[in-house]
Amino acid sequence: MRRPLIAGNWKMNTTVDEAVILTRDMLPGLKAISNIDRVICPPFISLQRVSEIVKDTAVAVGAQNMYFKEKGAFTGEISPLMLKSLCKYVILGHSERRQFFGETDDIVNEKLKAALATGLLPIFCIGESLQENEAGKTREILARQVTGGLKAISANKDIVVAYEPVWAIGTGKAATGDQAGRTIEFIRGTLASTWNSEIAQSVRILYGGSVTDANIAEFVREPHIDGALVGGASLKASDFIEIVRQTAALKQ
Ligand code: PEP
Repeated sequence: MRRPLIAGNWKMNTTVDEAVILTRDMLPGLKAISNIDRVICPPFISLQRVSEIVKDTAVAVGAQNMYFKEKGAFTGEISPLMLKSLCKYVILGHSERRQFFGETDDIVNEKLKAALATGLLPIFCIGESLQENEAGKTREILARQVTGGLKAISANKDIVVAYEPVWAIGTGKAATGDQAGRTIEFIRGTLASTWNSEIAQSVRILYGGSVTDANIAEFVREPHIDGALVGGASLKASDFIEIVRQTAALKQ
């Protein structure tokens, strides 16, 4: 049995004060739900405050990115070592990083290696663009992202994969549960050929892209979907709690 996981990606939203308020607003509701991993990923500058607030609870904190070097002359970057005392998870290879900041499969691969070496749990994002989807290239792109991202990384069930079709992120146009379920089954197959089927069955794979409290059930009813990476809806405490609640109930 794979333990379900819901992660909230706050992206470049919330000041430190707002992040504190949002965390305090969602904490009681999140704490009350069990048998599911709950992760919130605020901006870097709020990690310290948010991690203090959730300390000693089952709610975990994640970063949204990191550089792959431990330290040095990399102005503006944050290292895995810096994150280690502040959070448990780190989102890597998000499509917005790939699209706006030029992250390639090779860079994501370096980041995955560095996160694992430091003991951070990566949420490894993959997904095809609208153009790739319309050209019938979804599986080819996903296979390339999986094998490129995991190059020279030995089988590891601690990596969480998030399938996020780019055309569904922040657009309000979510995939259907069936579409996402079949694609995630394909991703699991790619993990099996990259590593082995036992590990592939243990790795958690999330869906992401316009998930809300109104559609989450459709996704988590799918046997291959282990939870969700939630953007916009994770910025409203009651919506995020409801997404976590429904997932925990449906994955019993
Ligand atoms: C995301 O940021 O990973 C995401 C899926 O965003 P949204 O839920 O807003 O589409």
